[in-house]
Amino acid sequence: MRFTIIASLFFLLIAAGERSAAQESLVHSDSIRITADQTGTVAVPIPTEKAMDYYRSGNIMWIFDILWGILIPVLFLFTGFSAKIRNWAKKISKKWFLIIGIYFVFFSLISFVIDLPLSYYQEFARQHAYGLSNQTLGKWLSDSLISLIVGIIIGFLFLWLPYLALKKSPKRWWLYVGIGTAPFLFLTLLISPIWIDPLFNDFGPMKDKVLETKILALAERAGIEGSKVFEVNKSVDTKMLNAYVTGFLGTKRIVIWDNTLAKMNEPELMFVLGHEMGHYLLGHIWKLIFFFSFLILITLYIAHRAAAALIGKFKHRFGFEEPSDIASLPLIILLINLFGFILITPVGNWFSRSLEHQADQFGLEITKDNHNAATAFVKLQAENLGNPRPGTLYKIWRASHPLLGDRIEYANEYKPWLKNEKLEFEEYFKK
Ligand SMILES: [Zn+2]
Repeated sequence: MRFTIIASLFFLLIAAGERSAAQESLVHSDSIRITADQTGTVAVPIPTEKAMDYYRSGNIMWIFDILWGILIPVLFLFTGFSAKIRNWAKKISKKWFLIIGIYFVFFSLISFVIDLPLSYYQEFARQHAYGLSNQTLGKWLSDSLISLIVGIIIGFLFLWLPYLALKKSPKRWWLYVGIGTAPFLFLTLLISPIWIDPLFNDFGPMKDKVLETKILALAERAGIEGSKVFEVNKSVDTKMLNAYVTGFLGTKRIVIWDNTLAKMNEPELMFVLGHEMGHYLLGHIWKLIFFFSFLILITLYIAHRAAAALIGKFKHRFGFEEPSDIASLPLIILLINLFGFILITPVGNWFSRSLEHQADQFGLEITKDNHNAATAFVKLQAENLGNPRPGTLYKIWRASHPLLGDRIEYANEYKPWLKNEKLEFEEYFKK
């Protein structure tokens, strides 16, 4: 079962860490050329027919995913299948904690199988059809299984917590779970770059030592000291470009996907890293964690009200009478997907776009290199098969980053240092 909203939430949060300028990138630099006038102003490229096709079919897939995220939990509930899974779990153990854990294992395995054809198409077949992926089928499958196992372990260890709140405090559980979301997200973000991400790829030292020195010098100028630079072999999976700055104290790290090193020239890379350092220094991760926790809190409250009404009406078909029954999990997922779509996604995207814009501004101020910032975005557009000017609905529901056309134009225009104006983030820079 797809946790459509939760998945996109985590994507957004991890994106903040950040999958920078990159996000949906793939490389077809042959099909888009960088054009600039004598002043260095870079034109927003017209997307290729292939890019527009990828954009349109992506929108259809997106609508399909939303409906899928509603349909599957509805089937689990109205056929009484969820209650049946709970009965299986109860046959294996009588202990409350274990019933929840065992239910979750069954539920995850069944959902994985149901979703497998869709995941295969979206993550593997479609990406290959558009020339955006380098992944072998074996790697895709093993990555999917690792994700499944990690998900089962995390669910087994933590899912009892919200159910304990549901049991002990049927009226206020949404408040406690909502408040608990912030430390849980914090823990996830702290742990995943160090223990989870290396399960999927190799994080090695930078091969180009001269470039590494320049990156560390930029970091130092931004006031980030004592960080390590890692190069990830992401080219085995995707043609996407990405880099991020994450970690605390001894785990502080600048991570660059090898694709990014291959496709971007040095000044472009410096702008991208300046953008990422902006996220890090301006505390965007914290802002996102608190903002999303608040949105989740509101969503849980609405889900709480709706769940009571739905259970009251359909308890005989659902096969459970209280939300604190673990068989209610598909109902909670259904409601979070539904209200998350209405609230979390559009509001979260709006907030994320504002932070991304700030990071772009930071990257420009520290590099003062308008031309290379703009060409970095053009490369992203080319490699991601991006549409620089998508429609309004796309912007509201799907764009966690400012539109590429707007980013290119901003990169061309923003140069307060030429007018002797004060820079917004000057106090962060060491001279
Ligand atoms: Zn960013």
